[in-house]
Amino acid sequence: MNTGKATPTENNPRSPANIGTCSLVGAGPGDPELLTLKALKAIQAATVLLVDDLVSDAVLALAAPTARIVHVGKRGGCTSTPQAFVEKLTLMAVRDGQTVVRLKGGDPLVFGRGGEELAHLQAAGIRVEVINGITAGFAAATSLGVSLTHRNHAHGVVFITGHARPGDAATDWKALAATAHSARLTLVIYMGLSNAAHIQSELLHGLPADTPAAVLQNVSLPGQRCACTTLGALHTTIEREQLASPCIMVIGDVLHGLMQLPLPAALCA
Ligand code: SAH
Repeated sequence: MNTGKATPTENNPRSPANIGTCSLVGAGPGDPELLTLKALKAIQAATVLLVDDLVSDAVLALAAPTARIVHVGKRGGCTSTPQAFVEKLTLMAVRDGQTVVRLKGGDPLVFGRGGEELAHLQAAGIRVEVINGITAGFAAATSLGVSLTHRNHAHGVVFITGHARPGDAATDWKALAATAHSARLTLVIYMGLSNAAHIQSELLHGLPADTPAAVLQNVSLPGQRCACTTLGALHTTIEREQLASPCIMVIGDVLHGLMQLPLPAALCA
């Protein structure tokens, strides 16, 4: 872990000797066994943990009993803690001399505004150690036993959000589908569940309806569920199986082999 020492500024009245440390840590998809050793050590050493709502209880159980755990989740549709407030809380705790872990689901810099938080802390003169986590898209593919880049089927993979930030230009799903088709790319869609009908109809402009698709809920957690389907039946499958957030959608020919295998009953919805 780094020292987190920072030069005092107008905004940072603490002397460098009093300042704490800050780590931006990936908690992985949920199963604590999937934490990196670095993440585990940081979680155990933390005096304050600021935690997103996708971080599992099993991971939080690894924190010291004396640590202060602050839930600052902001999952779509739920009560959220404004981003500026989360960043302020993190800064205050570091300046209070705490060993702060900002714990985020999956990898801390894959979606979920980790990059914004990192930039904000750095702009405030805080040195931040970033510790990778296994992102949900990787964990989803692995739980299916599928290689997202199997060379028989794909030349690459696209991680994309299904939920563009309000005010941002909407994702051009038609263009993405055409590129995915011609360049043989697997699509891994985060935060796409509520927009699945739209995503499906747009993607169908460039990808065949029989392109295999899988939707995985609660990857790596005891309540994991999965539905294997096709792009043409994506939305109806989600509705029928009542899949709910958090979900990862995987679309692409790398799932072909999977469609022919009987999946373990526990895995499939
Ligand atoms: N930083 C996270 C992603 C944050 S965005 C990561 O690297 O995984 C939040 C989205 O991630 C969710 O809406 C969902 O699409 C996905 N996600 C996170 N954890 C998940 C899980 N255990 N199972 C399925 N999807 C998950």
